Amino acid sequence: MTRAGADHVSIALLYPELLGTYGDGGNAVVLAQRLRWRGIGAEVVDVTAGEAVPASCHVYLMGGGEDGPQALAVRELRASRALRTAIDGGAALLAVCAGYQLLGRQFLGPDGRPHAGLGLLDCSTDRGPGARRVGELVVEPDASLSLPTLTGYENHAGITDLGPDAAPLGRVVVGHGNDHGDGSEGAVAGHVVGTYLHGPALARNPALADLILSWVVGDLAPLEDAEVDALRDERIGAARRGHPLAGWRVRSR
Ligand code: GLN
Repeated sequence: MTRAGADHVSIALLYPELLGTYGDGGNAVVLAQRLRWRGIGAEVVDVTAGEAVPASCHVYLMGGGEDGPQALAVRELRASRALRTAIDGGAALLAVCAGYQLLGRQFLGPDGRPHAGLGLLDCSTDRGPGARRVGELVVEPDASLSLPTLTGYENHAGITDLGPDAAPLGRVVVGHGNDHGDGSEGAVAGHVVGTYLHGPALARNPALADLILSWVVGDLAPLEDAEVDALRDERIGAARRGHPLAGWRVRSR
């Protein structure tokens, strides 16, 4: 089954009350609006914990959250095959931070012990040494994705190790990302994307929004994104200068 060419797109926002700490629900608003601006119908379906996850949506979104809600979310999702069914059927999935971590094979729960993840991405997350990774994150995306430099902010304790079946979303220019010693950030496998970029990521990086939408609706007419481009330039400049509001570790390239 393929979902490419859809003329009305349904976007499932999974557990916004558990995975909504960092405002990633805005990713759903961005996707829906960018479709409507192009005359394509869009609906956002909020799926709260305890509700059945629909298997028929075109795009699934998960955001960031604290360790406790993250463990609750994975328990609910493991009890349902719907997400796996949807991905196997061609749906796209963007998961941010806690959402990204729980897509992997395992992550650390609030008790500091490993919890089984959903196994939808070949990665696993451990507690990294030192302070939480907090600040601006600038990422040079993998060339195969044909995307401009990505920006956002990160706030996480976990560090993520990619397995052979997951490719990095990109390489960290400023900040930490996966922080597993290889300079990688995020993970991509098919139409599943995991990232540490908050922002919301799709508001700050509309080209990433359009890449995800193109997997569902096919080629898209360009939109005027000059204001977002200006914001991205400003954020990249601030991050590179090590502005106090912009994170505090600049990697040499
Ligand atoms: N609780 C996870 C961590 O600290 C995820 C945090 C987040 O989603 N920003 O690593």
